[in-house]
Formats: sequence, C-alpha cells, structure tokens
Amino acid sequence: MNIDTRVARFEPAPGDPYRPTSTPLYQTATFEQESADEFGEYDYSRSGNPTRAVLERQIASLESGRFGFAFSSGMAAISTVLRATLLGEGRATPVSGDLFVGQDLYGGTTRLIERILAPRGVNVHRADTTDVQALRRCLENASPGFWLFLESPSNPLLHVSDIEGVGHVVHESGGRLIVDNTALSLYLQNPLELGADLVLHSATKHLGGHGDVTAGVVATNDELLADALTFLQNAEGNALPPFDSWLLLRGLKTLGVRLKHECASALELARFLERSSFATRVYYPGLDEHPGREILERQARGYGQLLSFETGDVELSRRICEETSLFTIAVSFGSANSTISLPCRMSHASVPESALASGRVQRLPRDLVRVSVGLEDVEDLISDLESTAARKCIRVVSS
Ligand SMILES: *Cc1c(COP(=O)(O)O)cnc(C)c1O
Repeated sequence: MNIDTRVARFEPAPGDPYRPTSTPLYQTATFEQESADEFGEYDYSRSGNPTRAVLERQIASLESGRFGFAFSSGMAAISTVLRATLLGEGRATPVSGDLFVGQDLYGGTTRLIERILAPRGVNVHRADTTDVQALRRCLENASPGFWLFLESPSNPLLHVSDIEGVGHVVHESGGRLIVDNTALSLYLQNPLELGADLVLHSATKHLGGHGDVTAGVVATNDELLADALTFLQNAEGNALPPFDSWLLLRGLKTLGVRLKHECASALELARFLERSSFATRVYYPGLDEHPGREILERQARGYGQLLSFETGDVELSRRICEETSLFTIAVSFGSANSTISLPCRMSHASVPESALASGRVQRLPRDLVRVSVGLEDVEDLISDLESTAARKCIRVVSS
C-alpha cells in the first residue's frame, strides 16, 4: 500500500473490547495482575504501555522494521542507541567502540558524542559520507564492528549521502550503519529499505508535527540490538510517556498532507531565494544545481521542507531572522508553523569548540539562515521574507 494510506490507517487499539477508532490514552502507571506471580501483557508503564505499544508498532511498520521504540526525546533515542552499539550497554556481546560520523550533524548529537561518549572510550572518526569512493578508502583500515552514523539530508547544510551506496561500503568493511532520518521523516525516506541497520528520528519534528511534544523513535530489524534497547528503555526509564505517545499518534496521521504541502512550498521558496538579491547562496536539494539532487530523487519521495541560505552578512542574516513576521525565530523544525533560525547561534551553538578546532566537525557559515517551511500560504511567506530583507538591506547599507 502507498505510504499515504499507511500513515493514515493502522489498527488503533489491538485487543480493546470497545473497538475505538482512535487510540485511547492509557494514562496509568500500573496494571492490575491476576495474582502475585502472574503478569499480564502490561504491568508497569515504564516497561510497557498500550498507547506507546501502538505507536512503536506503527513506527516499526512505517520504517519497514521488525522492532520499534519510542523515547522521551530524539537525544534520549540517540544516546540509548549509541551506548548500546558502541559501549555494549544492555548487550551480551563485546563491541568495538569505533564510531564514524558523517559531516554536519545535529549540534546536540555532536555534543553527546564529543562530551559523553568520547570520554568514555568511544573512538570518533569523521567521514565524508557524500562521496562513496572516498568513504571506501577512509574505511579501509577500520576495525570490524564499527558503526557509522549519518544524517541525509544533513541539517542545516543539506548534504545528501547515497544511503544504499554507503551501506554497501560500510557492510563490506565489517561495519554497520545508523541513519538519523529526522530531516525527511519516514514519509519521504526509509533507510532500512536502503540497507541501514538502524533508523532513528527526533519525532519532535515532523512526526509530532505541531511543536507540542518532544520524542524520539527508533526502528531496526536487528533482534539482538532490539533486545538491548528494550532492556535499556526499561532499566533507565527513558521511554515516551502515554500522553506524549498519544499526541505523536495523532500528529502522525496527518504527516502525509503536511509534508506534501510543505515540500511544494519549500521548492517555491528556494527558487524565490535563488532569484533574490539578498541570498548569496541557497541550500535546497530540490534545486537543479544541488549536487545531491539525483541521489535524493533515487532514494526519497521528496526534497523536504528545510532549506538554508547565506546572505554574506551576519548582521543582515540576524535581522532577517528577528524581524520577519510569519517565521517564528525558534530552534527545531517540522512544525505546522514556519520557523527561522541562525544555526551558528542556536541549534548548533552546543558544538564544542574543541571539535571545531580539530576539524572533526565542519564549521557552519556564520551568516547561514535556516528556514523550516510550515503550512502557511507560500505567497505570504515569500512576500514576508522579501519585504523584511528589502527593509534590512537598506538599513545595513546605510548604517
Ligand atoms: C532535533 C534533532 C535531534 C534531537 O532531537 P530532540 O527531540 O530535540 O532531542 C536529533 N537529530 C536531528 C537531525 C534533529 O533535528
């Protein structure tokens, strides 16, 4: 079935005798047992809850995975996954502790890797995942059992990696692949189908879609890894609570219509920026000259709703962010409303200077503006940006 049908239709309440048409919110911490030593399907919501179970099944199904997990945030998901894969936490088998990361990762992911995982013995290596041949050479001497973590398209520079090609090279070299699929969401791209071993999302973005819940989700076909994640989720108590799971299920149903609208608007906005006098460089994978456009067309069902641009002037970029009226200045993306940000000062300000200085992490242009296109009318969005930039250009020149 088509993805539009699959996001909208799923079994809302397996086993519920009243057959509700939307998933009930099982807002309970405990479940009564038959007796002291007989446990039902659920006993305690940290370990499992029916609302969360519907969500986790739906995530697994939409990502073509056997196992799905919902965590209290994207970072909780990433942290749990990386500790299971690289430090062997929750697992019986030893692991290598070698992590290759694609360039241009979410700032919080870099902070986690640099400040929490590296000091605990994870060896972090940087790799250019946009060039499969260069990656093959880079991985030649990697010790088997390593993991590679990438975002495609990456945030905020929108570098595109050939997920299938990267997966081949990684597997040939004895490693495994994790894809952070937040930027496009499972509506537009399914990395497990392209050969990734695990896919995760900050569900705070598109999957929730309304900017009212923080959540992270994971899907995989690897049973041993799934066992470790189940163990850690219960042992540490970082699973998504019932109400947040319910909000996420509600948001997920409209994922398709939201993204279709937003992708169409983002392409128009990117083309407008390309023609404009104030944007000196535009990053959007749907533009003809974007180096990753053809790869993206092969592996995804759309270009996404995130775009970035430079103005050549940090002050102008800052004023555009602060003074547009329809774009809220805010971190995050994928909400029903359009947002705008200066990644260097906002979402990526947490990247440690040591990582930038060593070259392990790419420095972002300081004048880079990131736009997340929401559900507003695209003509309104364009005229808002156009008139704000026109006012600000005059003031920057005259001051
Ligand atoms: C936001 C984001 C995260 C972190 O998710 P939270 O829900 O904020 O914890 C991870 N990866 C990417 C690509 C993100 O955009």
